[in-house]
Amino acid sequence: MSSWWCEYAWLPPGMVAARVLVGTEAGRITTVEPDADPSPGSSILRGLVLPGLANVHSHAFHRALRGRAQAGRGDFWVWRDQMYSLADRLDPDNYLALARATYAEMALAGITCVGEFHYLHHAPGGVRYADPNVMGHALIAAARDAGVRLTLLDTCYLHGGFDIPLRGAQRRFGDGDAMAWAQRIGSLQKDSPRTEAKPTEANGTGANVKHGVAIHSVRAVSPDEMAAVVKVADERKMPLHVHLSEQVAENERCMARYGRTPTRVLADAGVLRHGCVAVHATHLTDHDSALLAASGTGVCLCPTTERDLADGIGPAGDFAARGIALSLGSDSQAVVDLFEEARAVELGERLASHRRGHFTAAELLDQATVNGHRALGWADAGRLAPGMRADLVAVDLESPRTAGCGATAEAVVFAASAADVTDVVVDDRQIVRDRTHLGIPAIGRALEHAIAALRR
Ligand SMILES: [Zn+2]
Repeated sequence: MSSWWCEYAWLPPGMVAARVLVGTEAGRITTVEPDADPSPGSSILRGLVLPGLANVHSHAFHRALRGRAQAGRGDFWVWRDQMYSLADRLDPDNYLALARATYAEMALAGITCVGEFHYLHHAPGGVRYADPNVMGHALIAAARDAGVRLTLLDTCYLHGGFDIPLRGAQRRFGDGDAMAWAQRIGSLQKDSPRTEAKPTEANGTGANVKHGVAIHSVRAVSPDEMAAVVKVADERKMPLHVHLSEQVAENERCMARYGRTPTRVLADAGVLRHGCVAVHATHLTDHDSALLAASGTGVCLCPTTERDLADGIGPAGDFAARGIALSLGSDSQAVVDLFEEARAVELGERLASHRRGHFTAAELLDQATVNGHRALGWADAGRLAPGMRADLVAVDLESPRTAGCGATAEAVVFAASAADVTDVVVDDRQIVRDRTHLGIPAIGRALEHAIAALRR
């Protein structure tokens, strides 16, 4: 048994308490006592302590595009050309180095769990590696080294557009057909939990990896092929994610091809359900939103990416009013800061509606914590409560950004940045202390090296 004494802690159902003693055993929280003194041997966490943050939508390799895809006026084609050119240069070794450093950056930002929407499966030209899951294994190793939990969302990506074959760098994404995709991930998911399990180090929480599946989009997977992905998700009770209506052009082409919206196509193919997460959902009709709500599908918003790519502002307030569970993702890694994503949900609504006051800070923090973990299949994480995983994230309340704001959820969501996270504990194991990652101390240098190696 051990304990963490928190100067302040954000406790369910959304209140801040002072002097909170969090007892832990076997990687889980056993007791939460406000207004308590530290026990002998308690580790002290200053500032406001939150549950772990969950980054529900990540493409780790896009980290190498930060600051580069903005060249010139940084139009969409600059971004897309750079993304495909980068995708063509990755191999299992440099992918591991880049993902490890990227996940370490996430750990420093208080992210304890990441959902990787993984479609870079094969060698250039679509040739299979000797181990056809070597790229997925690189991501699993990267998360383990960075000390964060991972939900590996193995993505089915079979076409370059509606009835258009994969071309160029896209050929690395494709398995040929849905059956081949299902066979490949069958072997990944069979051997991974045993061979890739994180040593439990006296905590009983087990592996740091869960598996999930994803449909890249209605452009890249036909309705018949979607059925194969749904079958795998159903059989193994895994999370199922899908990019949905990120841009208007997808809707227009989908209407031209199927005479239905992308949401309707997904609904008709049986994709929408509890455990399904639609990523972006930026351009939906009222009827589309009703389909998501009625089916229990969640939505992952990625506001910093959506604004970087000029996608638009999704109807977050409308989703929440319909009872759709919202979660957050850093997606393209233009920014890795879930506080920025959280406040952008409210601030985007304000810009779109010319009105303040759509979400409370507590609701936004729920999106970044408990909702995010649920969307990734970790229902036992994201709250500081007995029985939950012992993930703790301390936020400095005396930084130039947060000083004078008070010990409140509002201070974290509307004033703090990722740089204000001082300490991070995952499954009762400290991975960040005093803003330093204990396993990968020089993360800036690791990112620099990993990205420089790709640009040679
Ligand atoms: Zn994405």
